[in-house]
Amino acid sequence: MRVFNFSAGPAALPLEVLEQARAELTDWGGSGMSVMEVSHRGHAFTELAEQSEARLRSLLAIPSTYRVLFLQGGASAQFAAVPLNLTAHGAAADYLNTGTWSGKAIEEARRLGVAVNVAADEAGSRYTTVPAPGALRLNPAAAYVHYTPNETIGGVEFPYVPDTGAVPLVADMSSTLLSRPIEVSRFGLIYAGAQKNIGPSGLCLVIVHEGLLARARPETPSVLDYTRMAAHGSMLNTPPTFAWYIASLVFQWIESHGGLAAMAARNRAKAELLYGAIDGSGFYRNPVERSCRSWMNVPFMLERAELEPLLLREAAAAGLTHLEGHRSVGGLRASLYNAVPLAAVEALVAFLREFERRHG
Ligand SMILES: *Cc1c(COP(=O)(O)O)cnc(C)c1O
Repeated sequence: MRVFNFSAGPAALPLEVLEQARAELTDWGGSGMSVMEVSHRGHAFTELAEQSEARLRSLLAIPSTYRVLFLQGGASAQFAAVPLNLTAHGAAADYLNTGTWSGKAIEEARRLGVAVNVAADEAGSRYTTVPAPGALRLNPAAAYVHYTPNETIGGVEFPYVPDTGAVPLVADMSSTLLSRPIEVSRFGLIYAGAQKNIGPSGLCLVIVHEGLLARARPETPSVLDYTRMAAHGSMLNTPPTFAWYIASLVFQWIESHGGLAAMAARNRAKAELLYGAIDGSGFYRNPVERSCRSWMNVPFMLERAELEPLLLREAAAAGLTHLEGHRSVGGLRASLYNAVPLAAVEALVAFLREFERRHG
């Protein structure tokens, strides 16, 4: 039996994708082998790589002035790759601090000698808000502005794209990329670990404007160097072939379900249903300011926190899994990525109402 999996990551994948992967696991495309057993430099895999990039470009309408990279090391490797590729040691960069993940990006940039200017910090609201557009203290001489459009743990999402003028905007879109259409040309660089909305962990997508290439520090490890990776089709070394393959099936799945506009409509409906149920009860509570609530990650708590372990047990028994909040913040959280169907959210809402009826 498949459960409804609300994990924040690694997260649910579309059932159709898993079934296709299973059907061709031992004989991929008539090769007599699984996709994991073929050479990444062979014709079949090279074609997969090209087609998957073309599909991603078409889904996101990525302009031809951007390179698309399929890298390893997850989003966390990009916390280091961004400063290594875009700054000289000691150069200044702006970071917006809206929670756990932007905090980790800041820490890594400082380790690498970036003079980090925290251009906004939402600590005052305990990271339940995003800065107002006019409140950003941006440095016009910064090498880039880094932010996290969707904070996966706090469930806080920017309802706008910051205007950084001529300074390139860098976005960690790990938990939001492919959830809706975006305007890629607003960004200098977008990166996203795959295990939220794209595919298996380990793979990380990077979409970088060609104007940001060729400025890496000389000591940048080759596998983190955008220019070298772009020149080698992301295959300077052996890529994570199985993860890449699953991501390519996910791109096809999105395409066949109406593309990103359709994903956005579904995701909005799912989020509205769950927030409506939480707000309409005196029993559950979401701490995030309404204007910046995430469509993807919905943290919530019980007014009677002592009931949370019981709720988690009963939910799991009812086939609703991974509802625990991140270990750093506790409480509960439901992640509603593309692969989580509306039926899952309907089942969750019905469960929450019934739980409240019995314990409220
Ligand atoms: C999950 C996540 C990360 C970390 O991803 P790893 O692949 O584990 O390195 C970074 N940023 C955001 C916004 C995330 O959701």
